[in-house]
Amino acid sequence: MLKIFLASICFFLLSARTSFSQSPTYVVLWFDTEDYVDPIADDAALRIANDLTSLGIQATFKIVGEKARVIEHRGRTDVIQALGRHCIGYHSDWHSIQPVPALNLQHFGFLEGAQEFERRQRPGFEDLSRIFGVTPACYGQPGSSWAPQSNLALRRMGIHVYLDSGNQIGYHDQPIWFGGLLYAYNMGPYQLRADLDHNIPESESFRHFDEATKQLRETGGGLISIYYHPTELVHTEFWDAVNFAQGAVRKRDAWVLPRRRTSEDAERCFQILKRYVEHAKSQPGVQFVTANDLLRIYANPTPPIVDKRTLAQHFSKNITFLSLNSGDLSAADILLQLLDLPAQYVDGPLRRGATSYTAKTIPDFVFASAISDVKSFIETNHYLPSEVFVGSQTLSLADFAATLSSQVLSPGSIRIEQGHLAFEQYVSTDAHKSFSWPIHPPGFAPDELLDMARLQAWTLKPARLR
Ligand SMILES: [Zn+2]
Repeated sequence: MLKIFLASICFFLLSARTSFSQSPTYVVLWFDTEDYVDPIADDAALRIANDLTSLGIQATFKIVGEKARVIEHRGRTDVIQALGRHCIGYHSDWHSIQPVPALNLQHFGFLEGAQEFERRQRPGFEDLSRIFGVTPACYGQPGSSWAPQSNLALRRMGIHVYLDSGNQIGYHDQPIWFGGLLYAYNMGPYQLRADLDHNIPESESFRHFDEATKQLRETGGGLISIYYHPTELVHTEFWDAVNFAQGAVRKRDAWVLPRRRTSEDAERCFQILKRYVEHAKSQPGVQFVTANDLLRIYANPTPPIVDKRTLAQHFSKNITFLSLNSGDLSAADILLQLLDLPAQYVDGPLRRGATSYTAKTIPDFVFASAISDVKSFIETNHYLPSEVFVGSQTLSLADFAATLSSQVLSPGSIRIEQGHLAFEQYVSTDAHKSFSWPIHPPGFAPDELLDMARLQAWTLKPARLR
């Protein structure tokens, strides 16, 4: 008995010490594997996959559908097997062939856009699943060609992680839940890499990595994201930039090869990558994770049940997510609890609804009927309404949420309140910058997609490590 007691004390002290001194720093290392033009890129992917396997590191290879098809067609079972020892993600069917996703989806609504995305992207997803024998664990867009409609389509395809490096949406440089997916995106100072082309000395790259891990340790742990393209290690220019720049289309037999590095230079790049991951691996508390692991190390997004007054007080100041000791709630989670609906994921509204209601108060029976209508709408459609009918007039969803909160806080006569959508601040307002990519046509700036992201930010909340 005493022995068991002492053992449990030791275990307790040991785990207390571990968690106190070492908040975990997770590193997700991923490779956008996309160059289907030059076969030498297949060898680069093979080399990287094998190097990492021999270092005992599992990475995530986000593979383009056409890339998977060409390596199969070229008979590269060695490449398929080597990549298959790592986590497989999806990186669109054709990457830079027009219309690329953001261009394609710019003028689509949310629901039709999701269908359109699935129509174009499912074939590559299925080829990848067939060739590698697994369901891809994550998706990330080609270049900056991001679109919010992809979230719904990806969920339908069984993908629950969004892994990439854009800046259209984000919160505090760490993973978020958005659109029902775990987003490792917009990681700011935690998006790192060792420079391949002598611009930043290696010692400097190591120092940046160490600083990032130190900062994460001090703030309870977190994620560092590192990515490369296998093609970068064997070429000095991108396979798509030389063929498809600025919206260009080009017949397959006219595709040109990107300029290659010399074999010595390529070897130098492989060594830089190898030393960088060795350095990362040797740091205390650092653990490499894959896109699949992310769903295990982050707590599932089911919100905690919270006292309604707390939620209503929060909403009457700002409509945005709420982080408590017990967990995180998106604005949509909060609205559902205020409406007494069971916790479930629902998408944001499809349009920006407006308030046309002019009186200052609402009769009880009219508001009660509006509430029951909203509940039925959400249960039926699994997304939030754009506006709420109050008799023949409307309240925007934000004003409805604020009015509902005020009724929770002071039952009695129902006064119209204006809601302030604070979560919109986490969405970029600069479409030109956020969608900058040499493959997009000149001047491409799809404000519509950022507007849609603001609507979908009802679903945004920080992701929390378990
Ligand atoms: Zn790419």
